[in-house]
Amino acid sequence: MLGAGIAGLTATRALAGAGLSVRLHEARDRVGGRLLSVTHDGCTVDLGASWFWPNEPLVQKLASELGVSTFQQALGGDAMFEADHRGAHRMEGNPLDTVSGRFAQGAQALAIRLAERLPEGVLRLHDPVTRVHVNDGAVTVEAASGVTTARHVVVAIPPALAVEAITFSPELPAEVRTLAERTAVWMGDIVKAVAVFDKPYWRDVGLAGAAVSHRGPFREVHDHSGPGGSPAALLGFAAAAPFDGVSPERIGAAFADQLRRLFGAASATPRHIHVTDWSAERYTSPRAVSPRAATTSYGHPLYQRATAGRIHWASTETSAQNAGHIEGALWAGQQAARAVLDAIGATQAT
Ligand SMILES: Cc1cc2nc3c(=O)[nH]c(=O)nc-3n(C[C@H](O)[C@H](O)[C@H](O)COP(=O)(O)OP(=O)(O)OC[C@H]3O[C@@H](n4cnc5c(N)ncnc54)[C@H](O)[C@@H]3O)c2cc1C
Repeated sequence: MLGAGIAGLTATRALAGAGLSVRLHEARDRVGGRLLSVTHDGCTVDLGASWFWPNEPLVQKLASELGVSTFQQALGGDAMFEADHRGAHRMEGNPLDTVSGRFAQGAQALAIRLAERLPEGVLRLHDPVTRVHVNDGAVTVEAASGVTTARHVVVAIPPALAVEAITFSPELPAEVRTLAERTAVWMGDIVKAVAVFDKPYWRDVGLAGAAVSHRGPFREVHDHSGPGGSPAALLGFAAAAPFDGVSPERIGAAFADQLRRLFGAASATPRHIHVTDWSAERYTSPRAVSPRAATTSYGHPLYQRATAGRIHWASTETSAQNAGHIEGALWAGQQAARAVLDAIGATQAT
């Protein structure tokens, strides 16, 4: 198994649960991939995914199984709108009002708790995979920790990153390689910033903590407070390209500046600002993003069948349902595990 994001962890759990011997190689020193929750001064916030939606049963079932408590995203109040340099104004109601849920312990808790439940010795952190070789009867995986031989390999890594960072031999069929290169990494071109405050002061004046800004650099702002408003926090999304080479401190300062414009002087003094530029994360985004990368190839039929009979695809981008979301990653992980079990069952039957 390549990648201990939520898709790889899901597939690993299913395969290990079916009694197979599985090895899960993870490049980073942590599990979760694009689920990343950080705690500072006792306040936990999400720098990767944070929401799930009512039409997503897999994620709700997983949270309940793992004892990760959930709560509703706060939406009440008015939003702010900033068209240009002439200043922000208040809009009646909150256009960013889709009902959604959040994870009280942070979204990464899903991945951490899944990893804790894996059999000992399955997960290898700090273990980037660099080569996958398919021969007649097996797959050989080369990782930092050494070489492993297996019957099947699941690539639970965004396809565009996998084909850039991993050498496949023999070469992947041209149609698969081209598809992978052109499959955009979901949110891979985004900067997310979270500012933590003493209290959700915007709520005192009937504001939702939400904003739409055409001036930027942050285009969308949402309330990111925990249950009952604690910790109090606002999050922002910005396109990563304009921040190329800019330090997290300067990005954080730009976010604080914009919050002050949008919500008034109290926002000038957050207790802490966290910033993650996902385009600069070498284990999320490829260095050379194809100019043709798009989301239209998500869940493509080529991702639903094994390449060379032994390479299975399982990141959220490959999912035929809810691709891009945590829900899609869970679906892809389950699907890949089923495909491996089917293939092994077929082998054993012959
Ligand atoms: C800022 C942001 C906000 C988001 N908001 C939401 C949201 O609110 N709701 C929602 O549903 N979704 C959201 N998403 C998307 C969600 O995070 C993803 O759908 C999901 O986490 C993807 O899981 P995955 O396992 O498919 O991929 P990843 O999480 O990307 O996992 C891939 C794993 O592979 C590892 N890896 C990479 N290269 C190698 C290698 N060579 N060898 C070994 N391991 C390797 C990585 O370190 C990583 O752990 C958001 C994403 C971001 C970045």
